[in-house]
Amino acid sequence: MADVVIIGAGAVGCAAAYELAKYKLSVVVVDKESDVCEGTTKANSAIVHAGFDAEPGTLKARLNVRGSEMMEELSNKLDFAYKRNEAMVLCFDKDISGLEALKEKADKNGVKGVSIISGDEARALEPNLTDEVQAALLAKTSAIVCPFEMTLAFAENAYTNGAEFKLSCAVTGIDKDSGGYIVHTSKGDIKARCVINAAGVYADRIHAMVSGTPLKITPRKGEYMLMDKTAGGYVSRTIFQLPTKMGKGILVTPTVHGNLLAGPTAENIDDKENTSTTKQGLADVKAKGSLSVKNIPFNKVITSFTGLRAVGDRGDFIIEECSDAPLFFDAAGIESPGLTSAPAIGEYLRELIEKRIPLEKKEKIAETRKGITHFAALSEEEQDKLIKETPAYGKIVCRCETVTEGEILDAISRPLGATTLDGVKRRTRAGMGRCQAGFCSPTSMALIAKKLGIRIEDVRKNGVYESEVR
Ligand SMILES: Cc1cc2nc3c(=O)[nH]c(=O)nc-3n(C[C@H](O)[C@H](O)[C@H](O)COP(=O)(O)OP(=O)(O)OC[C@H]3O[C@@H](n4cnc5c(N)ncnc54)[C@H](O)[C@@H]3O)c2cc1C
Repeated sequence: MADVVIIGAGAVGCAAAYELAKYKLSVVVVDKESDVCEGTTKANSAIVHAGFDAEPGTLKARLNVRGSEMMEELSNKLDFAYKRNEAMVLCFDKDISGLEALKEKADKNGVKGVSIISGDEARALEPNLTDEVQAALLAKTSAIVCPFEMTLAFAENAYTNGAEFKLSCAVTGIDKDSGGYIVHTSKGDIKARCVINAAGVYADRIHAMVSGTPLKITPRKGEYMLMDKTAGGYVSRTIFQLPTKMGKGILVTPTVHGNLLAGPTAENIDDKENTSTTKQGLADVKAKGSLSVKNIPFNKVITSFTGLRAVGDRGDFIIEECSDAPLFFDAAGIESPGLTSAPAIGEYLRELIEKRIPLEKKEKIAETRKGITHFAALSEEEQDKLIKETPAYGKIVCRCETVTEGEILDAISRPLGATTLDGVKRRTRAGMGRCQAGFCSPTSMALIAKKLGIRIEDVRKNGVYESEVR
């Protein structure tokens, strides 16, 4: 029997696994997809929110601020990309009461480094802001992160510390049992003492498998446009907007890897799988983005994508033990700032479990994790040395992002390694660049096939192989 089964290998499930794997517990993470980070965690703004937006007194506010405080140290320990780039919230009106309300929330939430500046001061910091900007809230602790690397880092460290990952493994039902739960999956039953429901937009369906209490998750679509790295320096801070007559604002931000991102829209939908982009949505991104930043180089868009927020029905994160299902814990309604809050949610879930089951720390755990060596980030001397040691680092596979064969082989062979093109892309950035994998896909596919001992026809962009490879 597993002590804890975590349903969902997104940022929240993996952060919970990272936290719980430090204890003498058998932890099993299951996900219906063939890789970690296949849900909402792979498609969002990637902002480590400072915490000025969440309603004071909510779980969201508390975990946002705690997550933001934890993130820099975690990025060093677990080796994922993170940059404190600051943020601004722009006001286009002479009346700045909206900004003052945000500042008050920031103070109540305990967010440090927040101030209100004039439009001219904002333009002095960010010369591409429009002349319409009247004032701005400046948040010094806001940051950007790589959501894939962060989630993979939690997962790999949890795996190294003993957590088991069952991927391509969909939970189809859950029965209560004398000792806890029987989790029925597409790969057989798992007995569990405790269950954590971190199933993102599907958390309501998982909840309903054990509980009669109401919980509804509404998917809220957010569409984006991602621009080439040549546009990455157009703004250096994350630029938010106060809501305007045109509706809820959209942001313009550099990404941690140096691209420029504009979005997201906000539209409630019914379909939990609808990640399409639309002409109207992208037009909205353009129109609203242009209110903040002049002449955004939309001619440098290299891709567009959609993420689905898991909007709960209580206006706050729902992280609790179900009243009618002992030791079944929901981590539901984890919309933004869920990425920021993920490490704090992991910690909070551990505290909830600890109140019910005595937990004992393992004597020895891996505290750190080393990520993939990114060849392009090395100095020339370091590159030469690496190529001498491992010649595969001398072969460039992805020209747009300068990703080498050595990095791709590492991505496939490391713990919880990539088995698909998207898996390689998220771990190494091969295929993330301007040509969007047009050039590197055949080589990446050949490397995956060779390393996994499968036919090249069986290599998938994402999803499950015809032949079982794990
Ligand atoms: C448009 C947008 C912008 C955002 N911007 C930010 C931001 O800038 N900063 C921030 O902090 N947050 C942001 N967020 C929020 C953040 O992305 C999410 O809160 C976070 O990724 C949620 O992680 P999760 O692990 O709960 O869900 P997911 O990543 O969706 O993981 C859930 C997992 O459960 C699995 N699953 C579902 N059903 C089953 C089943 N039956 N069996 C097995 N597995 C199952 C899925 O496959 C999935 O992998 C944004 C979200 C969106 C959509």
